[in-house]
Amino acid sequence: MLYHMTALKIPAVINVFENVLGGPAVLHEPHFSGNEWTYVKECIDTGWVSTAGAYVERFEDMLCHVTGVKHAIATVNGTAALHVAMILAGVKPGDEVIVPSLTFVATANAVVMAGAIPHFADAEIETLGIDATKLRAHLQAVSKSHDGIPHNIATGCRIAAVVCMHTFGHPVDLDAVAKVCREFDIPLIEDATESLGSYYKGRHTGNHGLLAALSFNGNKTVTSGGGGAILTNDDHLGKQAKHLTTTARVSHDFESIHDSVGFNYRLPNINAALGCAQLEALTEAIEKKRRLAEMYRTAFAPIAGIKFFTEPVFAVSNYWLNLLLLDAADVAVRDEILSKTNAEGFMTRAVWRPMHLLDMYTSCPRMDLPVVDDIYARSINIPSSPQLANA
Ligand SMILES: *Cc1c(COP(=O)(O)O)cnc(C)c1O
Repeated sequence: MLYHMTALKIPAVINVFENVLGGPAVLHEPHFSGNEWTYVKECIDTGWVSTAGAYVERFEDMLCHVTGVKHAIATVNGTAALHVAMILAGVKPGDEVIVPSLTFVATANAVVMAGAIPHFADAEIETLGIDATKLRAHLQAVSKSHDGIPHNIATGCRIAAVVCMHTFGHPVDLDAVAKVCREFDIPLIEDATESLGSYYKGRHTGNHGLLAALSFNGNKTVTSGGGGAILTNDDHLGKQAKHLTTTARVSHDFESIHDSVGFNYRLPNINAALGCAQLEALTEAIEKKRRLAEMYRTAFAPIAGIKFFTEPVFAVSNYWLNLLLLDAADVAVRDEILSKTNAEGFMTRAVWRPMHLLDMYTSCPRMDLPVVDDIYARSINIPSSPQLANA
């Protein structure tokens, strides 16, 4: 049966949730069914709960293995990882950094933490990530190279980096974005905080930029309670990342010496222990998340006017947060769908309010953002925990 009238759509959506999920469900919650308790207990039993301890390095080794990136440096959260990635990419106070307007606020905040100014980019509808063609046209129009470094003509600021983000786990068109960055000689940072277990043309996300950031917050695919990691294939940057995240301490037998202003960003062992156990179950979690996405895709297919967002052609995605896209004609019922589904116990959310619409970022430089505005107006995130695939 096809539903064409918006009024009929809401019961149809609730019906899909009842069939696919079997009962009330939150957006994304952690699932502990492996060695979590054993590893965390070991930290407490041995006293190794803080930033020194074997699980931190084991966690980093596991991240290298999973992502194929040469260096992984564990941090207290994903925002801290992004902050240090900015500094290591050469972002200086007063610079501008291109970031997607459609992102979680941490991407833009990390730019400000590095003393720089976010400069917002539009998205493309196939990936929900930065539109490389628009990025090139924008840089051609608004920037001019001084000594090989692009500067914003209007503000005079250096454009010091581009941060792309793999939205809800779906890889952006990395080859296209990286090509534009090379053309303008701007370093690329991947905000891969949502894309652990997602592949772009067969290669794990986080490999394509100079640096990348992961997050292990409680609502991500793998959690360490709180946590993050900096990824890089560059040996020197890998060393620097470890140094800066561990208060820039210089090794000495009996003195405490620091050679620059560093950060207390190292992940505690007790969090790494939890993260190790979670990573052991990553493959299974991704399989379940992909199965849940397939269940949703099938169930929503007959409902006209609602599209279940699926991975871009070049990607294998972790489907971190599942997404419904309403037809333009149905934008008016977005809030009604949100309130009625939540009232029925199915946790749904509008996507993040875009950065250029947040009070503290309204005056930042930006390109035209019609696709971000459009995605924001007609998108709904729906329950996505891997364990829901068992329902
Ligand atoms: C989760 C997330 C982060 C980092 O979050 P933390 O809570 O600091 O670990 C950064 N950017 C995006 C897009 C995210 O989704």
